[in-house]
Parts: sequence; C-alpha cells; structure tokens
Amino acid sequence: MITETETETTETQTTRGKVYVIDRGRPKLRAGQGLLTGLDVVFRHFRDALTRKLEKPSQQTGVFTVQYPEERLKLPEAFRNFPILLYDDETGHELCTSCFQCQRICPPQVIHMTQARDPATGKAVPAVAEFLIEYDACMSCGLCAEVCPFDAIKMDHEFEFSTDVHGGLTINKAGLNRPISYYEKIAPTFWAEVKDGAMKKLQGNMKRRPDLIGVAPQMIDTIKAKRAEVAVAQAPAPAPSAPDSAPTDKAARLAAIRAANAARKDEAANVAQTSDTTSDDKAARLAAIRAANAAKKAAAEGAPASASAAPPAHTAPTSDTPPAASSTPDDKAARLAAIRAANAAKKAAAQKQDGNDDQ
Ligand code: SF4
Ligand code: SF4
Repeated sequence: MITETETETTETQTTRGKVYVIDRGRPKLRAGQGLLTGLDVVFRHFRDALTRKLEKPSQQTGVFTVQYPEERLKLPEAFRNFPILLYDDETGHELCTSCFQCQRICPPQVIHMTQARDPATGKAVPAVAEFLIEYDACMSCGLCAEVCPFDAIKMDHEFEFSTDVHGGLTINKAGLNRPISYYEKIAPTFWAEVKDGAMKKLQGNMKRRPDLIGVAPQMIDTIKAKRAEVAVAQAPAPAPSAPDSAPTDKAARLAAIRAANAARKDEAANVAQTSDTTSDDKAARLAAIRAANAAKKAAAEGAPASASAAPPAHTAPTSDTPPAASSTPDDKAARLAAIRAANAAKKAAAQKQDGNDDQ
C-alpha cells in the first residue's frame, strides 16, 4: 500500500574525502491512503480474533498479543527472579545445611540465616533454623544459587510479588521452601544435572539431624502423620479383649453344659428303660418261680400218697398196688404248669423287648 519513495543521492567532496548524502525522501501517499492502511491492519486483526479459535498461545504465529495474566508465555529454564530453598518431597528434609556460602557471596547482603542445633547437646547440626531473604533488595544476580554446594537454593520463575507492604517482601524459610518436584518441573534439565549429587549429600546430612531438625516447617505435620501410620502398621495385632471373648467362652460353656445335660437325660432314660425291663424280667422270673414252686408243691403233695402206694423199685408191681402211673398225671400237670409259666414269662419278656426296640 505504501508507494515507492523517490531517492536522491548527492555527492559532496570534503577535505577528508567524498561524502554521499542519500535523501530517501518521504513516501508519497495519496490523500487518505495512510488512514486506509491503518484501518486495513485493524480490521484484519479484528477478523482474525473472531474467526481463529486457538487453544494455546503457542499455536499462534507471527506477532500476537499474549492475554496476560490469563495467558502466559513459557519461561526459559534459565530464567531467574528470586531465590527459593528446596526440600525433599519424600522426607521433607531441606537441602540447606546452613553453610553460609550464599550469605557471604550475596552482593547486597540480603540473605540472613541461623544454624540449627541439637536440642539435647546444643551442638550445631547441618541444617538451617531460620532463613530470610529480602526480596525487595535482591537483584536477582543468581550468585547464591551458583555458589551453593548442596544445590539447596535455586532461582525461581515466579515474578508477581507486587505488594504495598514493604516488610511483606522479607521472606522467611516457610515462604522460601519449595519441594524438589516444583524445581524439577520448571527447570528439568538443570535439576537432572545435579540431582544425584544433591540427593547423596542430603542422605548424608539427614543422618546427622536428630528427629525433625531440618524438616521443612510445612512438612512437619505430614511427616508426623506418616510416622504414626508406620507405627500403627508395625504394631503387633491386639489381643482379643475380654468383653469380646466372654460371649464366645460363655457360648462354648453353655453348649458343653447342654450336651452334658442331654447325655445325662439319655442315660437316665436308658436307666429307666433298663429298670422297666428289669422289673418286667423280674416279674416274669417271679411268675416262673412261683409257677415252678406251685408245681413242686403240687408234686410234693401228690408224692407221699404215690410214694406209700408205690412199690419199691425192686418190688414187682402187683394188682393190689396202685400203679405207679397214678402219680404221673400230677407230675405232668406240675411240669405243664411250670412250662406254661416259663413260656408266659418268655412271652412277657419278648413283648417288652419289642416295645423297647420300637421306642
Ligand atoms: S540473587 Fe543475588 S542478590 Fe539475590 S539473594 Fe541471591 S546473591 Fe543475593
Ligand atoms: S543455601 Fe546453600 S549456600 Fe546457602 S547456606 Fe544453604 S547450603 Fe549453604
């Protein structure tokens, strides 16, 4: 849209040589052309803003506006603003050992710290008790991060610290602390280079720190909760309490008592049955004995008559002598009565036995 300019070159001879002066002139525009050119740019951008649906700023090409703060450009790893302190995500232990190197090298002397001590012995331990950095005076030189032998202090990418409270920019340890995973996210390459050495040094320093000394303040509750969980997991299984076991024991004892009672009951029933049977048997035997006695009695009563009438065994029977056969019907009757009584007794016993079997 801009028309060609007309250039004019003039040559001038001076004492130090030739000088060429080029007058490019001014672009020659038609009336209103500049206005139209500007409007053209505005409308093209307006159209693009309405028609192009972009998910991310990175999808845009060319010159564009980042809609800050909703949109932000990715910062390079080496970007640095203010220092932060790192602690281990797992154990909560800070990497700083309070060696004072960063404090010494800081040009504006904005780093302040005190070393931690063992509360039992009072001896210094490789951990920091308090750490302050005056962000409002820090010049973001990064020397503290460069000099730290434990990779405990790194430069952060955060830059939004505007405040109207001057003292609010003096940051203590709780405000400076960040987990290693945070720094690994913003500077993955830088952390990968130093990770092994830093973690090895941290392991060595942790052995010289008693209890929770050197643990980041915001991690102390988490570490205590973890320790409590481990203690509960490692504790032996609790013995069953008395109230729990009592019902079981009572139930077992009750079952045993009931079984014993049932056994006794059966035994008593058997005994009763046996006694019944015995009484029946006795009655039957008694009846048999009585019958036998009656038979004997009957035989005895008949015997003298027959015996007096009966001839001696060596005496031959005569016609006057009552025949020996006269006593035989009495004996037979007695034996018959005895046999019948015995059969009646057997029958009664058999009937009783059948009754028991049916039961
Ligand atoms: S970045 Fe520089 S000025 Fe800031 S605390 Fe570190 S050494 Fe000091
Ligand atoms: S941050 Fe690093 S240099 Fe500074 S005291 Fe801690 S360990 Fe030493």
